[in-house]
Amino acid sequence: MKRGKMTKKILILPGDGIGPEIVAEAVKVLEALQTNHGLEIELDHGLVGGAAYDATGSPLPDETLEKATACDAILLGAVGGHKWESLDIAVRPEKGLLGLRANLALFSNLRPAILYPQLADASTLKAEVVSGLDIMIVRELTGGIYFGQPRGIRTLDNGEKQGFNTLIYKESEIERIGRSAFEIAMKRDKRVCSVDKANVLECTELWREVMIRVAKEYPEIELSHMYVDNAAMQLVRAPKQFDVMVTTNMFGDILSDCAAMLTGSIGMLPSASLDANGKGMYEPIHGSAPDIARQGIANPLATILSVAMLLRYSLDQTAMAGRIEAAVNKVLDDGLRTADIHTEDARQVSTSEMGDAIIAALN
Ligand code: NAD
Repeated sequence: MKRGKMTKKILILPGDGIGPEIVAEAVKVLEALQTNHGLEIELDHGLVGGAAYDATGSPLPDETLEKATACDAILLGAVGGHKWESLDIAVRPEKGLLGLRANLALFSNLRPAILYPQLADASTLKAEVVSGLDIMIVRELTGGIYFGQPRGIRTLDNGEKQGFNTLIYKESEIERIGRSAFEIAMKRDKRVCSVDKANVLECTELWREVMIRVAKEYPEIELSHMYVDNAAMQLVRAPKQFDVMVTTNMFGDILSDCAAMLTGSIGMLPSASLDANGKGMYEPIHGSAPDIARQGIANPLATILSVAMLLRYSLDQTAMAGRIEAAVNKVLDDGLRTADIHTEDARQVSTSEMGDAIIAALN
């Protein structure tokens, strides 16, 4: 097919374990949108993780990095597995993922926690607390205490060891993650809660100051602030009070896992990592699930919902994204479930049957 000016290039990186199985279903969805709904895309394919190591000796071959740099968005399955666990850390599958994030400067990590009402029983929280939950956690991904220097373990004069890390953020880093959160909120309910520990940590005092300043560029946004300890409590007490939460690398790491588990279904949650221009890498939040690989039972919905995020945030195709999300809703309403979300009164389907049902529901 001839590539028009508007055609967007999407790089497909299936990875390891269930990666190829779930990505195959997501690709079917992209192709259905292309064929039946006029989505102008071109798909490219590449190797990453253990699959790339086996083929080339590197979890992130130069060819993959070149393709990742040249495309408009990346769809990734998952990487890793027992087979590669004894390898030197520099060539382990996870290095492929970290290498992509670092090389593409993907500083804004979007982790939605959505609970479809049909799956409310899957949560460990009461159905009325979580049913219909729809929060977006925006986590700073390339700075903060995970990267700050100096860091290490030193020996003091008295022979005792001391571990130390540095929580560090420049104004420009806070500004760009703030803008990322505000832009996302503009496509949602226009409420942003910035999470910090400004009462104790100077670095997050600056965080709060910069958030307030950047928010002035977005008069429609309602900005609030919350200390991280309270935010953790509120997430399990009354999670539906939040729309978008924006926070530092470490706080976001912890809060986003907490929020994801409110929904109780790891096979349902997508994620995105974006750069300053909206280019992004999209992937399910779960791993490569080697325990269920090649059995045709993996849930492809987190990956299919990652496609919806890709369309919304990198391709600006809000209507197409909504079409996918509506299809997921329809299929759940119809009682179709993969094994991980199966309940007695539902119909259990395989990975590919779930993909086919989504495609049918897209129309
Ligand atoms: P995991 O997320 O792969 O699996 C945890 C549990 O959830 C397993 O029982 C698995 O069967 C189940 N599960 C996960 N995704 C599912 C799906 N789509 N449908 C149905 N069930 C699903 O986590 P793990 O077992 O700790 O890690 C396995 C491998 O994945 C490891 O090598 C780990 O390093 C890697 N990993 C990769 C990523 C990534 O690529 N982003 C993230 C986390 C873990």
